[in-house]
Amino acid sequence: MSDPAQLFGIDLGGTGIKAGRIDADGLGRERREVEARINEGADAVCDRIAQLAQDLGHVGTLGIGVPGLIDRELGLVTHCPNLAPIEDYPLKVELARRLDITPEDVFLENDANVAALGEHWLGGARGEENVLTVTLGTGIGGGLILGQRLFTGSTGLAAEIGHICVDPTGPTCGCGNRGCMETLASATAASRRARDAGLEPDLRELSERARNGESAPQQLLREVGRDLGRGLAQAVMLLDLECFLIGGGFGASLDLLLQGIGDGLLERSYGRERDSFRILPATLGSDAGWIGAARLGSQAD
Ligand SMILES: [Zn+2]
Repeated sequence: MSDPAQLFGIDLGGTGIKAGRIDADGLGRERREVEARINEGADAVCDRIAQLAQDLGHVGTLGIGVPGLIDRELGLVTHCPNLAPIEDYPLKVELARRLDITPEDVFLENDANVAALGEHWLGGARGEENVLTVTLGTGIGGGLILGQRLFTGSTGLAAEIGHICVDPTGPTCGCGNRGCMETLASATAASRRARDAGLEPDLRELSERARNGESAPQQLLREVGRDLGRGLAQAVMLLDLECFLIGGGFGASLDLLLQGIGDGLLERSYGRERDSFRILPATLGSDAGWIGAARLGSQAD
């Protein structure tokens, strides 16, 4: 039944469901997208996912990325603020039933982790031995590739780098701590910092002004980048990392954050030179999630 030449992945987000089919060699691909309409409930979302997979000619395994905490043993999402109706819903079992496959053929993973897998397989971090991928959006997500494989830790929570503490006296974070990296360097945080400084809070506009040579926007983005670098330095000291990949919507301003990231990395790490770090841009955009999800089956032991 299974056709290993074809892989199928789903990126389930708060507003949309992206689904794709990709050849195992990464060359041919086809993608579909529909609205998630999460308010219609988990069964309806599950129906839509299964329908998308079938429309793409689904056979074999199916990988899904979800913006939440995953319980692999039970095959469900335990904490998912943007998609609350699917919390504790038996996603693997229900999808397997609709697609006439076994629950073991459905792979469930956190969205930042599948994005890391996608970028490592076919994107900006292709072939890197060790890399930390960073998604700069409303919050900051992270995915860790060690020895060419996704590292998820003891309970799947590895690389929750948004909650690395950068400044213990900083703003209160949604997690309850203070000065987490995402309270200082996410898109939301950068926009707030710009507004507080009397600057344009729209990050695209702010970035354009910086690129046009305005010094205040340049300086603000350098400071935001420095806080990001300070957080990443902690991963450097723990794991001896040299390579980082930066994506997410605010990743489009990487050219303006780069100098600050280097400053922060150097300031908070030991025994490093600035040119020992490589900061790479993500290249798959919003396709990283479903492509990485499709790859999940081939990462399984
Ligand atoms: Zn936090």
